[in-house]
Amino acid sequence: MDYGFVDCHCHISALEFQQFLVPGSVCVLLVVTGPNVERSARSEDFRSQPSLFSSAGSSGCDPQNQVGVKTLVAVTEEVEEFSRVLRLQERYPDLVAPCLGLHPLQAAGGQRSVRPQIGLDFTPWCAPTQQDRDDQMKVFIRQLDVAMEMDLPVNVHSRSAAKVTIDTMRRRGISRALLHNFSGKPAAAMEAVEAGFFFSFPPAVCRNQQRDRLIQRIPLDHICLETDAPALGLHRNERNEPANITLSCSYIAKVKGQTPETVREVTTQNAYRLFSRASR
Ligand SMILES: [Zn+2]
Repeated sequence: MDYGFVDCHCHISALEFQQFLVPGSVCVLLVVTGPNVERSARSEDFRSQPSLFSSAGSSGCDPQNQVGVKTLVAVTEEVEEFSRVLRLQERYPDLVAPCLGLHPLQAAGGQRSVRPQIGLDFTPWCAPTQQDRDDQMKVFIRQLDVAMEMDLPVNVHSRSAAKVTIDTMRRRGISRALLHNFSGKPAAAMEAVEAGFFFSFPPAVCRNQQRDRLIQRIPLDHICLETDAPALGLHRNERNEPANITLSCSYIAKVKGQTPETVREVTTQNAYRLFSRASR
């Protein structure tokens, strides 16, 4: 088996990637989002697209995708992104695995822009009232039910709502779930591990030691890697990229006392167990 990295949660259709276009280079994101479709639709490989695989916030690039990202699980936040991601997948079927979902605030017609896909975000600025939380819950449950009907795994955001998110998924019979950028208590995480759920951590975990205890507690065979690019990189206010998945890998390896190679192999196996349709 080829043990390239699987970025289990990234926003490759995000508009943030456009601003880093190198003159004369092809940006697939422009192909699907911008007006200059014909001008941009030259046939260079997405894997060599510098705005996705340049190295960690530096001027250096990794134009050949040397870090070896094998699959990008491309998540969405709103309906407008669905077609962009699907067209990316059409063009790069070996690399892009669409993961379509809506954040409850978007689904409810809210204007606030938040990062997640499906899930619950009970931080006060996202859900100041009980009505807000109830609305989120309705949309979350509907999307869980759709996932069940279609026999699909779910890629879940949960903030200030760890236990209720995990309990809700268990009650709805969800067995395949990724809790991305999880920051709940280790005890809640252990309940999720019992339910067979997975966790993924972005490069932002390297910023401090806040998540170390959590990462130590979660068995490696329930951990995946993600970047959440363009957000949650090593440095705030700096665009994150899929190439930075190596940072998450090395950090988790250090915290767990494993080699980065072991973490890469195990997390890739985990990712393909969870996102079996992305496995090749
Ligand atoms: Zn995200």
